[in-house]
Amino acid sequence: MGLDDDAREYHRQDPPGKIEISTTKPTNTQRDLSLAYSPGVAAPCSDIHGDSDLAYEYTSKGNLVGVISNGSAVLGLGDIGAQASKPVMEGKGVLFKRFADIDVFDIELDFDDPEDVIRSTRAMEPTFGGINLEDIKAPDCFEIEERLREEMSIPVFHDDQHGTAIIIGAGLVNAADIVDKDLADLEVAISGAGASAIATAEFLVSLGVRRENVTMCDSSGIITTNRAEAGEVNDYKARFASDRPAGDLADAMTGADVFVGLSVAGIVDPEMVRSMADDPVIFAMANPEPEIDYHKAKEARDDTVIVGTGRSDFPNQVNNVLGFPFIFRGALDVRATEINEEMKIAAARALADLARKDVPDSVLKAYGDQPLQFGPEYILPKPVDPRVMFEVAPAVAQAAIESGAARKSIDLSTYREELEA
Ligand code: NAP
Ligand code: MG
Repeated sequence: MGLDDDAREYHRQDPPGKIEISTTKPTNTQRDLSLAYSPGVAAPCSDIHGDSDLAYEYTSKGNLVGVISNGSAVLGLGDIGAQASKPVMEGKGVLFKRFADIDVFDIELDFDDPEDVIRSTRAMEPTFGGINLEDIKAPDCFEIEERLREEMSIPVFHDDQHGTAIIIGAGLVNAADIVDKDLADLEVAISGAGASAIATAEFLVSLGVRRENVTMCDSSGIITTNRAEAGEVNDYKARFASDRPAGDLADAMTGADVFVGLSVAGIVDPEMVRSMADDPVIFAMANPEPEIDYHKAKEARDDTVIVGTGRSDFPNQVNNVLGFPFIFRGALDVRATEINEEMKIAAARALADLARKDVPDSVLKAYGDQPLQFGPEYILPKPVDPRVMFEVAPAVAQAAIESGAARKSIDLSTYREELEA
């Protein structure tokens, strides 16, 4: 059987789906039940009515994330709708649980209008400690997230945007170091101007890349000031409008130090790689087929070419699972009101730093004893490396405390020990 049939069977096995609820308190006696539900449950209700923060002590709110989608941009399948997106959202819940022991309710909203998604998500604030928006199409996703961040006082994080941005950012910090270039000097060509590309471009600017050094292309070519002034592009693309002359992706890549592809398969050829500056860095992230094949990019030229893709069968996989479980872990554990830029930067730097450390034997074994040592073929930690949790979650928690986003202060060294226990 192929992967598709195996996946159907995996999902169909009884009980159908991948998630169930389990209870955490005794439910054996009549008395247990009268504590769990009426009449005993009235006492915690009244307490929370007096002090809403007590919801974190009396309910599962503080370890519960809402994975919310309207199914408008699911994987590479497009707008398949809310119902068909449910296996993906359940799957996201599986990853939250497996990597960070965070519980998830997956919520599939049958709404197209961003206003409806905003209203319904906002109304669920009492339920959750945080919201992971998922697979919502651009540009609606930008407006939805911005509005919810303003209007809610729990973290709201659209993983397709920022998860990707943070991992690419971490990879670029290391790649730039390996080829001995400063972020502020990098010329960056980006293919794609959708959810992940816009967020990645903004995050690279947060990390020190200069906005004027970014050349962004959408399906009509370079986003120029002329196109922006003519109203041809949305406001999010317009923030990256370039003074360069009109041109295509090949023009954008000529002389660039870095290529970031968050667009479609196969649109970069070896000639375009050869037109780039010395020791180029290439993130070809289109899934499942990248903008250029890993080996084709490596072999296009003789100097150092650092290549990352979204694929697990090549080095330097940019995998969102390196980010969201641990970012939410850190944010929930300090009852953060948001996931802000400082917290995202802390996550990226923690990932980058971890890739520079020696890899434990247990992780080497899981990867068939590939030589995982900091360098062009290893710029990011591996998802099954347990140290990712111990590094990223405390870094995010610390940044939340220092930036004023934490509602609860914690002792960071004890916190780290607790995570490792
Ligand atoms: P999206 O919001 O639909 O954006 C896709 C963008 O690609 C659009 O801006 C589109 O241009 C542009 N595009 C289409 N054809 C193009 C061409 N020939 N040249 C240049 N740009 C072109 O999608 P997304 O969610 O950002 O994802 C984009 C890709 O990245 C997908 O393949 C996704 O699987 C991949 N991705 C991978 C990871 C990962 O591996 N960790 C994470 C996130 C995304 P218009 O704006 O003109 O339509
Ligand atoms: Mg997604």
